Amino acid sequence: MLLRHTTKEVKEREGLTINPAKTCQPIGAMYAALGIHGCLPHSHGSQGCCSYHRSTLTRHYKEPVMSATSSFTEGASVFGGQANLLQAIETIFAVYDPEIIAVHSTCLSETIGDDLQQITKKASDDGKIPVGKRVIYASTPSFVGSHITGYANMVTGMAEQFAVSTGEKKNQVNVIAGWMEPSDMREIKRYAKDLGANIVLFPDTSDVLDAPQTGKHEFYPKGGTTAEELKSTGDSKFSLALGCISAEPAAIALDKKFKVPFETLDMPIGLSATDRFIMSLSKAAGVKVPAEITSERGRLVDVIADMEQYLHGKKVALFGDPDQLIPLVEFLLDLNMKPMHIVSGTPGQRFEKRMKEVLERAPYANFKNGLNADMFLLHQWIKNEPVDLLIGNTYGKYIARDEDIPFIRFGFPILDRIGHSYFPSVGYSGGLRLVEKILGALLDRQDRDAPEEKFELVM
Ligand code: SF4
Repeated sequence: MLLRHTTKEVKEREGLTINPAKTCQPIGAMYAALGIHGCLPHSHGSQGCCSYHRSTLTRHYKEPVMSATSSFTEGASVFGGQANLLQAIETIFAVYDPEIIAVHSTCLSETIGDDLQQITKKASDDGKIPVGKRVIYASTPSFVGSHITGYANMVTGMAEQFAVSTGEKKNQVNVIAGWMEPSDMREIKRYAKDLGANIVLFPDTSDVLDAPQTGKHEFYPKGGTTAEELKSTGDSKFSLALGCISAEPAAIALDKKFKVPFETLDMPIGLSATDRFIMSLSKAAGVKVPAEITSERGRLVDVIADMEQYLHGKKVALFGDPDQLIPLVEFLLDLNMKPMHIVSGTPGQRFEKRMKEVLERAPYANFKNGLNADMFLLHQWIKNEPVDLLIGNTYGKYIARDEDIPFIRFGFPILDRIGHSYFPSVGYSGGLRLVEKILGALLDRQDRDAPEEKFELVM
């Protein structure tokens, strides 16, 4: 009963968020930067911010996450952090020898007004960046937006600061990954390979945050989108942005600067969103969908049809990040389940609009995002209209325990379970995994609560 003080009565709040359904911008920027090969993320702020961001990513991925910091003290906080960052760039290249440093700001450096573009230019003018190496940056003030905004800002920075145009179009498609797991990125590449589509996926944290145990510590694991690949994105013939919040801004940047046309898709979670992804990628790359992918789809459809009686009408509460929630809610509707309550701390009208389109099939649903769309509100909604299942990150376990609701961990961060880095949620096989998890949670509960005369061996 850790949340026993949560009241049932919902009151309008303006200036207060309780247990936010989001975390801070630089975590997203740091995660995105790890998806560039040979890159060391750099946090321009105090050591405390950097430690928090690193430890959250380390706990989620169970991998050592490296990042440097400008180590602000009182002096930098008053006079600005330029000297710290210039010194840091010099030291990092000398000691840790990355190919790229990806700098992101924090609340403190943003409040002071440090200009990362100007400071990184000065570092270059002063000869602090060795030939062939790069420093990129993204502004990530954490007093607005969320970790998803920070991710989007860093991915947009990659597009704006790496891409070039040689004037000759390449037969390749940019696939811009919204915030997804390394396992999901690996799966997107597998689909592209099976389709025979030539893609540049960025960012790409597979083989970085799910690297195998070799007995040897690799400071820069073999994964990540290379600088050369990122440069070539300006010459690609098309971009697919997987997520209207975390991926679309980078596609817009490439279109504006290099006239690379794009299509924004929902992240391919569940049956319908995966269908759209496969069709769009096959069209953009000019390739046919092979029989094996069609069979994979058929297996998911078969499982959904076979298990429909256990899923139909079951009520679900969800919280998390926009680009995952949108297709997940759509998938629940495809499963004939009822998404009742949905919250996300990430603001944005684009998100609101797309979610409302999906929720046209669920006019009964409560949905709120942005300020005050917090876990406290979600808990209150659940108290007023109980649900059969809760889906969200690890922080949901308190509500699940208090209200005795089956709980599936999904999203970021997951601090107390494994699997998310290794088993994809995207694609048809990801959909199969989601159905398995949902069914497992619902049927375990049915077994637990069934009276003896109704305790079934065969479902
Ligand atoms: S919210 Fe701001 S001060 Fe707090 S950890 Fe994030 S960047 Fe640092």
